[in-house]
Amino acid sequence: MNIEIFKNYPVKSYFSKRINGLEELNIKPFIAVQKHTDKIFLIKEKSDTTNRPIADALITNLKKIPIGVKTADCVPLLMYDIENNVIAAVHSGWKGTAQKIAVKTIKKMTEVYKSKPQNILIAVGPSICGRCYSVGKDVIEEFKKIISYDFYIKKDDRFFIDLKEINKNLLKDAGVEEKNIFIHPDCTYCKNEEYQSYRYHKNTLSFQISYIMIE
Ligand SMILES: [Zn+2]
Repeated sequence: MNIEIFKNYPVKSYFSKRINGLEELNIKPFIAVQKHTDKIFLIKEKSDTTNRPIADALITNLKKIPIGVKTADCVPLLMYDIENNVIAAVHSGWKGTAQKIAVKTIKKMTEVYKSKPQNILIAVGPSICGRCYSVGKDVIEEFKKIISYDFYIKKDDRFFIDLKEINKNLLKDAGVEEKNIFIHPDCTYCKNEEYQSYRYHKNTLSFQISYIMIE
């Protein structure tokens, strides 16, 4: 149940495989209305969870409020500041990644909760791998604005990118230590019998949930 990287800390965390609804989970996390934005929502008091905001990242330092993201190929990231007891859950597809939503979430944690990147542990969940995720030239052009190294593989007229790897590198640039980033090896497309893959199944009627909660 608990993700290895968080095991010595007072948090509960989870990466699900395919589910059809939140009722299949023991813990039902608060989830925003995700729209591939770079909007970050802070939960400062319990009443902030009465309505679901439009956001693709959630942050809180409140106990017993599980926060999560819904994905089906996109990258889920769970974060925990071990020093200040702050958690975050981030949904990062290509649009979110190109907008550096994970890095912006860390910046927000820094501004609001005095977090330091070197104290933040991050678990990157099951999502589509770099051999399965092909994108068009327009997407490559977007990423060229924020990445200076060689990040894609070209095959015929398609381009392949690894969103987990790109997120990891962006986080390292933002000061997160590599040893503090865990990357789940599963690809949702390669393992589409266990996971919902938007690219494979062509819908998100089922999905994965990733959540984290301070106990
Ligand atoms: Zn794959």
